[in-house]
Amino acid sequence: MMVQNLKILVIEDDDFQRRMIVNTLRTLGVSEICEAANGKQALGVLDSAVTRVDIALCDMNMPEMDGMEFMRHLGDFQYAPSILILSTLDKALLASIETMAKSYGIKLIGVVEKPIARAKLELLISQFERPIIRMPQKAAATLSFSLEEILLGMRANEFEPYFQPKVELKSGNITGAEALARWIHPEHGVISPYAFISLLEQSDNIDELTFIMLEKSAAACRLFHNRSNKVTVSVNLSLVSLNETDLAHKITTVVKNAGLDPRYIILEITESAIMTDLARALENLTRLCMHGFSLSIDDYGTGYSSMQQLIRVPFSELKIDQSFVKDFGNNEALRIVVESSIDMAHKLHLKSVAEGVETKQDLDMLKGIGCDIAQGYFIAKPMDSASFYEFCATYDATRIFSPD
Ligand code: C2E
Ligand code: CA
Ligand code: CA
Repeated sequence: MMVQNLKILVIEDDDFQRRMIVNTLRTLGVSEICEAANGKQALGVLDSAVTRVDIALCDMNMPEMDGMEFMRHLGDFQYAPSILILSTLDKALLASIETMAKSYGIKLIGVVEKPIARAKLELLISQFERPIIRMPQKAAATLSFSLEEILLGMRANEFEPYFQPKVELKSGNITGAEALARWIHPEHGVISPYAFISLLEQSDNIDELTFIMLEKSAAACRLFHNRSNKVTVSVNLSLVSLNETDLAHKITTVVKNAGLDPRYIILEITESAIMTDLARALENLTRLCMHGFSLSIDDYGTGYSSMQQLIRVPFSELKIDQSFVKDFGNNEALRIVVESSIDMAHKLHLKSVAEGVETKQDLDMLKGIGCDIAQGYFIAKPMDSASFYEFCATYDATRIFSPD
């Protein structure tokens, strides 16, 4: 975008520094510049601005309201400016500010150290693109349903597993798929699990869904076996279910009735889940393992420290949570978490799985550091069973692994 057309707000408590920055911006041709001495004043400027402010150059350390608090309040504005940080902070601090800004939905366009280098400032602001105004979210994402509607939907057979492929990084082969629940709503289309899982869990109705998922996933898995090599299907198990004494028996019956050997089913359990009623959970998990099921620790890294559980329960797989995997190649701290999780998994003889793999760069790096299996949008999004069947039949590993 042309620098001349930008509207820029300079937030800096040091009068001299602020004047220097304003002058530099003027010499770059920026015509609309406003100023504030701290976050509070800046919010006032934004509140009364008639036209939209494109960029706020923002000092972090300021009296009254610092840069971080300012960014927090920015989340309330419909048209928040993008932020360019003026600072001399060290890298780790900047990284955490970046994460914070992102979670408030704010766009950071970069960091310029003080005193300001004209060339760097020019480069950063000339690359600025005015963001497209946030559109209201898709209707389906904001729909909410009552427990009664959900239960009726389940009883009308409207829930289906969608399958997301898992790929072995060494060979490129598909090893299996994770089954993710979808409500195929007759009016609203495909509804994501966020609209129904927690209500079902809170009301003690989650088992009904678990068994629908198990039954349909096991049946689909048998079909997949006719077509391709013996893939596994992973089913998510809720923490609340683990308190039930006859869970293992019921699961085994459902899977065997579908004509599938339990060794093709992997049960994914979130690590915090394992804590609830330790003795019961251990009994269930051990029995499931005895019956031939594989157990996977889901969302690894997000729950409680689970070292004890890892050792006590016979898990065979560790799934590193997507919040660590996404873009880990560009973030040193994330890279350390991912690498050490893989390392630990291997030392405990568990398969390491990375979920949320969205880019080729992440996939290649995971392969490089010895991760066993990857799952994520870069390989494929979750899809219905017919599409997964088709996906396996036409799968070509070189498409994913070929050099770009
Ligand atoms: P999860 O077990 O962590 O499943 C992975 C989620 O990440 C899925 O969301 C999947 O679609 C999404 N995902 C996969 N790859 C990528 C990627 O590359 N990028 C991004 N941004 N996302 C990716 P989904 O299907 O919406 O499921 C959300 C959660 O709902 C699941 O998280 C799981 O905790 C729960 N869930 C789904 N199905 C069931 C079920 O049958 N029973 C239970 N108890 N929970 C379920
Ligand atoms: Ca899962
Ligand atoms: Ca997860």
